[in-house]
Amino acid sequence: MEEKNVTPEATNFIEQIINEDIAAGKLRPEQVQTRFPPEPNGYLHIGHAKSMFVNFGTALRYGGKCNLFFDDTNPSKEKTEFVDAIRADIHWLGYEWARECYASDFFDTIYEFAERLIMEGKAFVCDLSAEEIKNTRGTLTEPGTESPYRSRTPEENLKLFREMKAGKYADGEKCLRAKIDMASPNVNMRDPVIYRILHATHHRTGDKWCIYPMYDYAHPICDYLQGVTHSLCTLEFEDHRPLYDWVGISLGFDPKPRQIEFARLNITNTVMSKRYLKKLVEDGKVRGWDDPRMPTLSGLRSRGIPAAAVRDFCARIGIAKAQSECEYSYFEACVREYLNAHAERAMGIVDPLPLTIVNYEGEEELDFDKNPTDESAGTRKVKFGKHLLIDRSDFSLDPPPKYFRLKKDGVVRLKNAYIVRCEGWNTDENGNVTEVLCSYLPESRSGSDTSGVKAKGVIQWVNAKTCAPAEVRQYESLLRDADFPGQDFSERMNENSEHIFAGAAEPYLAEAAEGTPFQLLRTGYYKMCTEGEKLVLSEIVSLKDNFNKK
Ligand code: ATP
Ligand code: MG
Repeated sequence: MEEKNVTPEATNFIEQIINEDIAAGKLRPEQVQTRFPPEPNGYLHIGHAKSMFVNFGTALRYGGKCNLFFDDTNPSKEKTEFVDAIRADIHWLGYEWARECYASDFFDTIYEFAERLIMEGKAFVCDLSAEEIKNTRGTLTEPGTESPYRSRTPEENLKLFREMKAGKYADGEKCLRAKIDMASPNVNMRDPVIYRILHATHHRTGDKWCIYPMYDYAHPICDYLQGVTHSLCTLEFEDHRPLYDWVGISLGFDPKPRQIEFARLNITNTVMSKRYLKKLVEDGKVRGWDDPRMPTLSGLRSRGIPAAAVRDFCARIGIAKAQSECEYSYFEACVREYLNAHAERAMGIVDPLPLTIVNYEGEEELDFDKNPTDESAGTRKVKFGKHLLIDRSDFSLDPPPKYFRLKKDGVVRLKNAYIVRCEGWNTDENGNVTEVLCSYLPESRSGSDTSGVKAKGVIQWVNAKTCAPAEVRQYESLLRDADFPGQDFSERMNENSEHIFAGAAEPYLAEAAEGTPFQLLRTGYYKMCTEGEKLVLSEIVSLKDNFNKK
C-alpha cells in the first residue's frame, strides 16, 4: 500500500467535501490541486495569509499541489513590482508553489473558448453601454430586460467579436455577453459581460490585446487549464458559483473544477482592502507598503513578526463558512506566545533615568537566563556596576497605591542583581528628577539572597558605562476605534501611531544579528536592527494587551 493514497481525516468543511469527492472515486488524494490567486495590484496582507493557509495547506495535507496563479485580467492596475513582492511574501510565509502561472498565459485559449461559445449560440456581442447594461439588469425582485442585440446570429457575433479583437472599436463601444437568462433570480446569470474592450497596455502581454476577459469568465477556464480540482475562494464569490459552473458545463470541462467558498478573515480595527492600503502609501500616511504598522505581510515582516506565528494564527482561527470578526488582540496573543518560547530575554530602557549606587564600588558579572521558558537556552553574563540606568516610569515621587517600584525610602530588586533602597535623588532647576541615589544590600544578590529583606518589585536596568544608546520605536494601530458606525477610514486615522524614544540597551543587543527578536524585560518584544551606526529597537508586540487598556 502506498502511504500517499491514504485520505487524511477531515479537519474542516473543505476537507470534508474533498473527502466525499475522493470517496466517490472522482480523484485520488494526491491529485488534489488548488491555486492561490492574487491579483497583482498591491501587496499581500494578513487576509491573504489565511487564503494561502487554506490553499497551500489543503494541498499539503493531501500530498497534492498548489499553484501560484496571478489573476492579471485587469491590465490597467497590475504591475510587475507587485508580482515580485507577492512571490517574496509567499516564500516568507513558508510556502512553495508547484507552478507559477498568469491568467494572461491563457488569453489565447480563453479567446478561442469565447469563439466556441459564440458559435454554439451561448454568447453574443452587445452594443449597449455599461450604463445601459446596468440599467437593464433588473433588481433582486424584478427580472432584467433582454438586450436588443441578443438575437444576433452566431456568424454576425463572430464577425463583430473578431473586429473587437482587431481594434476596430473604442473602449466600451461593444462587449461580449454570455447568453444565459435575464430572468434568473441570480443577477450574475443575467447575460453577464465576459469580454470588454480596453485599449490598455498589459504588464505581460503588452499591446497584443485590446479586449480582456472578465474575471468570472476567465477564472473557471484558468482553473481548468491548470488542472485545479478544488477552487477555494472567499464567500463573496458564492453568488458567482452558478456562473463558474455555467462556464465549465458550457465548455464541457471534464473533470470540472469545483468551487468552494470559505469566510474571509476580518480583524477588528484592521483594514485589509488593497485599495485602502494603497491610499495610505500614496498619501504618505505610512513610509511604504512594508511600514511596520501596515497589516501587509511585508509590514508584518518588517515589524519582526515571525512567519510561524502568522501560520499558527491562521491554523487557530480555523476555516469556516460563517463570516466572523477576529479580535486583533488574538493575533497579538499568538505572536506573543511564539516569541515567549523563542525570543531571548534582554534588558533595555525606553526612557532612561540614571541610578547611582552610593555604596557600590568596582564591577562584577552576573548570570542572566537567556530564556527561562527554554532550559536549553542557558545563561550569559551581564555587567553590573555603580552607575546604572533604569526606566523613568520605575521611580515615583508621588506613587499611587500599590506602587512596588522605586520610591522615597522604598526598596526594589534590580533584575538578576541586588535589592536597592532609595536614599535620595537629584533634580534640575525645574524640579525634574535627574538621578536616583540608592544603597544596595550586599547579601541580597539574586540566587544567593540571605538579606532577609523582601522587595515586592523587580525592575530592569542597564549599566550606564557599557550600555548601547538605542532608538526605541513603539507603535499604535493606524486606525482609532470607530467612534460611530459608518465613520470613514480617513476620519479614523490615528495621526500618532509611532512613538520614538532615546533609550539604552545592553551591549549584547547591539552585537546580535540584524532582525533578532528579544523580549525586553517588562517592556515588550522588540526587533533589533541597525540604521547606519544607530541601534534601533522596534516594537513587535507589547507584553500585555495595550489595546484593551487604552
Ligand atoms: P482586496 O480586497 O484586499 O484587494 P482581493 O480579494 O481583491 O482583496 P486578491 O488578490 O484578489 O485580493 O485575493 C487573492 C485571494 O486571497 C482571493 O482568493 C481572495 O479571496 C483571498 N483573500 C483576500 N482577502 C482575504 C481575507 N481577508 N481573508 C481570506 N482570504 C482573502
Ligand atoms: Mg481583487
